[in-house]
Amino acid sequence: MTRHLWLPYTQMKTADPPLRAVRTEGSRITLDDGRVLVDGIASWWTACHGYNHSHIAASVREQLSRMPHVMLGGLVHEGAERLAARLAALLPGDLERVFFTDSGSVAVEVAIKMAVQFWLNRGERGRTRLVAFAGGYHGDTLGTMAVCDPEEGMHSLFRGVLPEHHVVPLPRDEAGLAAFDAFLAAHAGSCAAILVEPLVQGAGGMLFHDAAVLRALRRAADRHGLLLILDEVFTGFGRTGTMFACEQAGIVPDIVCLSKALTGGTMALAATVARPRVFEAFWSDDPAHALAHGPTFMANALACAAANASLDLFEREDRLAQVDAIGARMREGLAACRNLPRVVDVRVRGAIGVVELERIEDMRGLKRRLLAEGVWVRPFRNILYLTPAFTIAPEELDVLAAALRRVLGNA
Ligand SMILES: *Cc1c(COP(=O)(O)O)cnc(C)c1O
Repeated sequence: MTRHLWLPYTQMKTADPPLRAVRTEGSRITLDDGRVLVDGIASWWTACHGYNHSHIAASVREQLSRMPHVMLGGLVHEGAERLAARLAALLPGDLERVFFTDSGSVAVEVAIKMAVQFWLNRGERGRTRLVAFAGGYHGDTLGTMAVCDPEEGMHSLFRGVLPEHHVVPLPRDEAGLAAFDAFLAAHAGSCAAILVEPLVQGAGGMLFHDAAVLRALRRAADRHGLLLILDEVFTGFGRTGTMFACEQAGIVPDIVCLSKALTGGTMALAATVARPRVFEAFWSDDPAHALAHGPTFMANALACAAANASLDLFEREDRLAQVDAIGARMREGLAACRNLPRVVDVRVRGAIGVVELERIEDMRGLKRRLLAEGVWVRPFRNILYLTPAFTIAPEELDVLAAALRRVLGNA
C-alpha cells in the first residue's frame, strides 16, 4: 500500500512498514487495526494543544468557507496581519517584522538570506558565512544542512554542494568562551551572523545549555558586529517553559525563526521575525535592496487561521503552567530510568524529557517494544525523548514514563 510513498529518513528496504493512522484525538492516535496509542511526541512536538482541538478546527473551517488562500504578492489579508501583530507583541523587545514561509527549514533559509543581504545592502561585501554550532539542527534543505552539525548535515556526503559556513563548539564555559572570542576575532569580518537553537539543541540530540550561554553569544555578536539569529523552531511556543526560550536569557536576537507549534500542529507555517535594525537595511529607493524571497503559499490563510486560533488558546488556557506540571511529573516518572542498564543521562527541561543511552543497538526491536506498550515514542540515535502535548492527561504521561522504564529495563 505504500508502494508509491517515499518515507523520510527511512531505509525502506529493511525498516518495519509504517503504521497507518486513521484518527487522532487529544494525545491519542488510532490505527487502522483498531489499536490506540498514547502519543509521547505530539507529531514532532507540533500538536501542543493535543490533536483536533475544536477551537482550531472551527477557525480553519470558517476560513475555508470564506477564503482558503490568496497569494501574498500584492495582496494581504486580515489573518496574516493579525498573526504578525500578535507575534510581534508576544516576542521580546522590538522583534516586529514578520516574514511568513511554510516550513522551519525555509524560515532558517530566509533568516540566512536576511543576514547576508543585510550586509550587502549596507555596502559590506564578503560577509557570507554563518557561525553555527556542533550539535545544532536547522533543517534538511541544502542551505540549512550546511549550518547543521557536520555529521547531522552530512557535510562530507554533500561536499561541493553545500555552502561553507563555520560550525564550532558551543561555548559553555570560560575556556570555551575565550576560544570562541578568539575565533570571532579572526573570522568575524567574513561572517554575517551567529545562529543557534536557544537552550535546547533539539533534533541534534536534545542537548541542553544554560541561559548564560545565550547571554554570552549576544555579547559576542555585539562585540564583533554580527547579527544574532535564534532558531526557535523547536523551542518556540512554550516548550521550554516560557513562550520563547530567549526570554529565559533576557536577550533579544536580531532575527528569530518560528514554526513547529505555530499552528498547534494543524498546518504547515513558519515565520522569520526581524528587528527594525535589520528591516531598515532593506528599506530603500533601490528595488535591488528588497528581500529576494517569496514562497507560493506564503502566509496561507488557513494556516494563519490555525495559528491565530492556537494563540487564542495560549491566551485562554494556562499552557505554561501545564508545561511546568508536565516537567515535574516527567522528572519523577523518568528518574528511575537513571538506574537502568546503559542509561547515561536523564534530563528534563520544560515539557521535554530525555533518556540518553550509551547507544541503541537494536533500534527496530526497541521501536517494536514501545509499540507493544501502546505508546508512540520514536527513539533516534542514542536517545528516547518525550515532547507531549501540553494538554496531555497526567495518567497518559504516567503511561509514557512507565513504558520507557519497562522497555529500558528489559533492554
Ligand atoms: C524541525 C526543525 C527545523 C526544520 O523544520 P522543518 O519544518 O522540518 O523544515 C529547523 N530548526 C529546528 C530547531 C527544528 O527543530
